Amino acid sequence: MEGKEMNCRICNTTTKKFLDLGRQPIANNFLNEDQFDSEYFYRLEVFFCPECYTIQIGDCPDKEKIFNKNYAFFTSTSNYMIQHFKKLADDIKNNYLYEEGFIVEIGSNDGTFLKNFRGYKHLGIEPSGSVNAVANKRGVRSWNRFFNEEVSENIIDKIGQADVIVTTNCFPHMVDRDSVLKGIKKLLKPKGIWINEEAALKSIMNRVSYDQFYNEHIFFSSIASFKNVMKLYGLGLHNIEYLPVHGGSMRFFSFHKEYAYENEKLSSFLKMENLNKFERFQEFGEKVECSRKRLLEYLFSLKEEIVGYGATAKSTTILNYCKIGNSLISKIYDTTPIKQNKLSPGMHIPIVSYDTFKKDKPKNVVLFAWNHAKEIYEKEKDANTNWIMPI
Ligand SMILES: [Zn+2]
Repeated sequence: MEGKEMNCRICNTTTKKFLDLGRQPIANNFLNEDQFDSEYFYRLEVFFCPECYTIQIGDCPDKEKIFNKNYAFFTSTSNYMIQHFKKLADDIKNNYLYEEGFIVEIGSNDGTFLKNFRGYKHLGIEPSGSVNAVANKRGVRSWNRFFNEEVSENIIDKIGQADVIVTTNCFPHMVDRDSVLKGIKKLLKPKGIWINEEAALKSIMNRVSYDQFYNEHIFFSSIASFKNVMKLYGLGLHNIEYLPVHGGSMRFFSFHKEYAYENEKLSSFLKMENLNKFERFQEFGEKVECSRKRLLEYLFSLKEEIVGYGATAKSTTILNYCKIGNSLISKIYDTTPIKQNKLSPGMHIPIVSYDTFKKDKPKNVVLFAWNHAKEIYEKEKDANTNWIMPI
């Protein structure tokens, strides 16, 4: 694939394209038939920066089009994630936050994580009105806005600097990364820690899970790129932790640069990572094309009804890239009420309530929520299902 030009949003270097996932709708924009005419599409291409090694998507829709009152992802719909956040909260209480300390979560969603800190000085920042309202109802103090340098200054004025800043699966969403990082740098107390969790790029590469690329995920960080970007903002990467959630996640621990010595684990991971070469990503692009061919060949070979499980944002990328419509997958079961009885973005496959799944007993099921496979296989173990991995 020829490398098309686009400048890195962080260091302004000319980037190189390694993946073209075609025309895509907004991944979480489940809609009704009367909204087809106004459905928004963009071209989903993914680029590598040869200078800071950041991976980023090109053209992307305005953030106001995505994180608005209709935003449909609620953290607390997954029991597994509730447990995951409880554990992170315990780690923070034991290691980083004293009783009078102040914790800020950016992208706090419905307060699933911060509700563990209701007895502490805490603040959530959440741009989506729908989920922010749920957080406040639960007794989690949360401001409904996008985080940036100005909001950081407002927090310092009204409450003070933070001992702990947490971002889980939201830092990659924030297109104005420059302002966000300046804001984090200011908000963090001199010895404060920033804990950021996001999809592990290495896992995406190994698993060829190209469905992680969609309009909400603008940036992807290898360890090497995260370290480079921290340096540009007077911060320093201190440690990392690999987590098995969401198909493989990475937790990055950063301090102000004066306090951020690189620990041994980080150094050895950096040596092994090998994600600083464009050729690695070119190979990945070729594997994605093979993945599409393999999936389509298999689905066409079945000649029986096929349904989907989990109308995830990730499924939007796969369905639109592979051009799979309701002639191939008749419906998708989902537990989220806001998505039910609507149509999937772009390919317009009907979304039906999960409640009928057990009664319908569908045979061939594409597992779009593959990152929760273990939990789902356990839940559906009585059904005689032919589970199909879409990637
Ligand atoms: Zn760059």
